[in-house]
Amino acid sequence: MEEKFVIPGEIVATAEEFVPGKGTYESDGKIVASEAGKLTLDVKSHTASVKPRNPVTEPKKKDKVLASITDVRSSMAICDILFIEGAARQITGDAEATLHVSSISSQYVETVGSAVRVGDVIRAEVTQSQPSTQLTTVSAHLGVVLAHCSRCKSVLQLKDKSLFCSECERYEKRKIADDYGAVSVS
Ligand SMILES: [Zn+2]
Repeated sequence: MEEKFVIPGEIVATAEEFVPGKGTYESDGKIVASEAGKLTLDVKSHTASVKPRNPVTEPKKKDKVLASITDVRSSMAICDILFIEGAARQITGDAEATLHVSSISSQYVETVGSAVRVGDVIRAEVTQSQPSTQLTTVSAHLGVVLAHCSRCKSVLQLKDKSLFCSECERYEKRKIADDYGAVSVS
């Protein structure tokens, strides 16, 4: 039995080998994680499942977190914190945070949607935890670490320092982290 930590949207197995269990779904012949947590590929039952990590704490200032974008508005993105990177204490339940347009990049960001989109997974730093959680992605190691094509939902690949969909043969714009596509969440 193989175990690793995965994030939502990550392809964890093929549908030829495994059936989707809890925390996963099937899409285009692939088994995809719908939750962040520990992946179990059970070869006996041929089931791929993801078990969310254990409770629970509030993120603190300076924590690096992985978060998924749940809403994009004119002045901010709303995020759901998945977990704190490199920490034993973890998050479950309601862990909403906001990423203000002025805290996305050191360069001018014309619209929030040109930097992050719904479904993207970002690495961000907590700048404030009370009364609400505020995030920044300004520095090079922060930003989008996993994104899908807004047209066909394929995982976007890093190409020429931009994100490229090989299915649609088009680029999409994001504020990406310097290790896009190679993020380790274990
Ligand atoms: Zn595409």
